[in-house]
Amino acid sequence: MNYLPTFKEKVYESDLDVADRYKNFYCPHCHNFSVVPVHRKAFMALLWVPLFPLGGGSYLKCPLCNWIQEYKNEQQLVTVAKEQEHIKKQHHIPTDL
Ligand SMILES: [Zn+2]
Repeated sequence: MNYLPTFKEKVYESDLDVADRYKNFYCPHCHNFSVVPVHRKAFMALLWVPLFPLGGGSYLKCPLCNWIQEYKNEQQLVTVAKEQEHIKKQHHIPTDL
């Protein structure tokens, strides 16, 4: 048997505090309106102890199916929000939710 401890990537996520118009985006994978912006930080960890950071960033994530996509800056989020208003209209979802 192998008793050597293994290194693994450990990811921490936190919800971003954003206006409601940047929440409940359409998920292209599971087709729910559940995608929210999150901040992710990845660490290389030995067992459960984080040792050093691997990077991080801002992402759009669906908590239902775990679909995820990175976005680079607030301008991209604004662009996505405008596209989402169009998608919500097509699905007859009020855009002020
Ligand atoms: Zn989904």
